[in-house]
Amino acid sequence: MIRLSASEMAAKLANGETTSVELTQAHLDRIADVDTDVHAFLFVDTEGALAQAAAVDAKRAAGAKLAPLAGVPLALKDVMTQKGVPTTAGSKILEGWRPPYDSTVVTHLKNNDIVILGKTNMDEFAMGSSTENSAYGPTHNPWDLTRIPGGSSGGSSAALAAFEAPLAIGTDTGGSIRQPAAVTGTVGVKPTYGGVSRFGLIAFSSSLDQAGPCARSVLDAALLHEAIAGHDPKDSTSINAPVPQVVAAANSGDVKGMKIGVVKELNGDGYQSGVRTRFEESLELLAAAGAEIVEVSAPNFEYALAAYYLIAPSECSSNLARFDAMRYGLRVGDVDGASAESVMNLTREVGFGREVKRRIILGTYALSSGYYDAYYGSAQKVRTLITQDFNKAFEKCDVMVSPTCPTTAFKIGEKSNDPIAMYLNDIATIPVNMAGIGGMSLPSGLAPEDGLPVGFQIMAPAMADQRMYLVGAALEAALLTKWGAPLLSQAPVLAGK
Ligand code: GLN
Repeated sequence: MIRLSASEMAAKLANGETTSVELTQAHLDRIADVDTDVHAFLFVDTEGALAQAAAVDAKRAAGAKLAPLAGVPLALKDVMTQKGVPTTAGSKILEGWRPPYDSTVVTHLKNNDIVILGKTNMDEFAMGSSTENSAYGPTHNPWDLTRIPGGSSGGSSAALAAFEAPLAIGTDTGGSIRQPAAVTGTVGVKPTYGGVSRFGLIAFSSSLDQAGPCARSVLDAALLHEAIAGHDPKDSTSINAPVPQVVAAANSGDVKGMKIGVVKELNGDGYQSGVRTRFEESLELLAAAGAEIVEVSAPNFEYALAAYYLIAPSECSSNLARFDAMRYGLRVGDVDGASAESVMNLTREVGFGREVKRRIILGTYALSSGYYDAYYGSAQKVRTLITQDFNKAFEKCDVMVSPTCPTTAFKIGEKSNDPIAMYLNDIATIPVNMAGIGGMSLPSGLAPEDGLPVGFQIMAPAMADQRMYLVGAALEAALLTKWGAPLLSQAPVLAGK
């Protein structure tokens, strides 16, 4: 049962073949079996999940009309607040904190009767590409336990790939939904900025952060997308417009006549050969499905990474000022006579990890007087140029595409002492966040040289998220015909479990 897609599980729940309690228990058993190896979860909410499942079953038995994913379990990234449930954002500074409120995403999940299994591991405050920056130890990629599952939503992607959950929530500031999806052979979508509320999403870089669906199929991602999206008065950047019809698009998958723009700058040198092989093959399949492949250019993407590493740290230096040991979370050095300042210093010294400190220092510097215009101001101008590149390219095509990441999953420890090497993972995903548009990653096969999953990225204009689902569904269907079975059924390590 745990190997079915979420929509298949929903169908079995609807026709009475199983119950949510049974389905939830099967996933809790799976977590007990494999999570000592994978470490996708920071907290498993056995009681809460089973209670929620029993409540859905009761509603169904009483003949209530339920949401499409009602009763299906989900893994929640630990950056989302959930009332009464430990929420750490992967940081020591929030250890033991139980939020007094639900994030809007969690409110939507509960309203849709989606069962929350627990909280997933992540890079501390979502800063990283490997989940190695978690204060609670790394998550392992189910395809090869010695490798990273991507980051920062690595716990969510690993939970999907290990069949510990059929659905998950991730957040994406510079690629943290799409890159983990790419390296675990799963599907991840960063919706248009403002499409999903940020209320209760612990902030890293507010102008870039966006929550989105993680799943094992394009349709499942679409169902979850519609469940969590929509205007929220509690988030002033939330878009007050109808949610794009992504489920209809995922069910259609008709790309006849669509123009698909291959980004010249996001390919070629620096991309692993197997990544390029799979990318070219996917383009051929889309062409065979009736799409027209064109080339587009985005010359300013070259500066996206540099600008991101000024903007994101600047915003984080401000956002993380709230962790001051006074209102919640960790408090260190609170002895008689200690000044508030020394308690703050000691707490932040102990509570934050190396990468978080690096970014706070970088961001504080970039925002300081005398440097603001040269660094932060310039980065904001680059951001505008990137948006203009997208706008120009979208005059020639309906969606833009690229490989999601330059390489497949690397070894745990391989890049952890080299921030620049780590940052380069997001070279192809960051432009999307800079422009506030939507991006999807779906599996395009295995790289021949290492047998590891490769991701295909689809980018669509703001509030045209349905286009990613059209193209994603078309490619997924063509690849399934070619493979004969979903990619994840070929996972070598946990397939035997
Ligand atoms: N890897 C990028 C970073 O470390 C992106 C992280 C994210 O999307 N949350 O900032």
